[in-house]
Amino acid sequence: MSSHQTLLNALSSIKYPGFSRDIVSFGLVRSAILEAGAASVQLAITTSDPKVPVDLKREVEAVLTELDEVSEVSVEIAVSKPKSAPPAQAEGSGSTGDKSLISGVKKIIAVASGKGGVGKSTFSVNLACAFDYVLNEALGSSAVGIMDCDVYGPSIPLMMGVRGRPTIEDEALIPLENLGIKTMSMGLLVDEDTPVIWRGPMVNKTIQQFAQNVNWGDLDILVVDLPPGTGDAQLSLAQNIPLDGAVIVTTPQEAAVSVTIRGAKMFSKVNVPILGVAENMSYFLNPANGEKDYLFGTGGGEKAAESLDTVLLGKIPLDSAIRQGGDMGIPIVKSAPNSEAAKAFYDIARQVLQMLA
Ligand code: ADP
Repeated sequence: MSSHQTLLNALSSIKYPGFSRDIVSFGLVRSAILEAGAASVQLAITTSDPKVPVDLKREVEAVLTELDEVSEVSVEIAVSKPKSAPPAQAEGSGSTGDKSLISGVKKIIAVASGKGGVGKSTFSVNLACAFDYVLNEALGSSAVGIMDCDVYGPSIPLMMGVRGRPTIEDEALIPLENLGIKTMSMGLLVDEDTPVIWRGPMVNKTIQQFAQNVNWGDLDILVVDLPPGTGDAQLSLAQNIPLDGAVIVTTPQEAAVSVTIRGAKMFSKVNVPILGVAENMSYFLNPANGEKDYLFGTGGGEKAAESLDTVLLGKIPLDSAIRQGGDMGIPIVKSAPNSEAAKAFYDIARQVLQMLA
């Protein structure tokens, strides 16, 4: 384990005052460096309560001093005041941006890609189903959700086979459920026949508001399908949802890799750890001779993982059953749980759960 990871592991035992979430998954750790026994940690927090930085500093010092590798600790905390602090907005009121709506969600991960068409949404639904399978296998129960924030092409409802309008309770949207997975999508809120024209700043505001007003209840894990790209919409979502990590989807193609890397770098700016890269459409398994055909070339996943200093979580084959699963509203992990593709998804789901544990 790298010394950076050792520090992060220790810091992730510290909860942000008043929240059940830790300071690492909240994205508050700007840097954590360990050199010759000297640990230096920088945090950036937003609060108007002068007690918070004092308490946090003390806790960080206490936790890091416990480590064998650490002989001295320095902690710097940059404090910014909230833009419009509404302290009167108590938890549990169910109002806009209320943290309590997601307080029952244990882990949140984003699935992202630098560009569209790499199979990000297909990957997201199958990964959600794979979490369900792996958690059921390990714990005998599972509660998984998927949130489609891809406003430009909200395809998750179709892929998960959910239809109809979500209900609203206490000003919060209630997800629809199919195949044992809770689903929420902007696509469920707009008319299929009435295209919505999204413009500039409105897009960010709308997605944010949508993402923060879903009442998920208790979930083991929530998969957030981000819009493709590297711009403001992704950034503001990553800043407004307390993400525990991100999985980056790419194809093996050289052309996809540079834009994948550019898109993924955004996560380090907002202190969201990249859990790994998944390569989709890696190869076609020729049914005639059982050989793998590398239609889109090779090496993209490895290259992206290496440049992002992360791991390649797995390779998903190009398989017409995967496309059909999406079109029919039953992801392949559910329709063919013993297929090669499903097994690749279980393997990725297990690695991600282990990293988050
Ligand atoms: P994105 O969300 O990145 O725009 P989609 O998930 O919508 O991409 O996938 C684009 C198209 O490719 C869809 O028609 C989907 O069914 C198909 N597809 C995605 N991954 C695979 C795969 N591994 N094998 C076969 N078809 C795939």
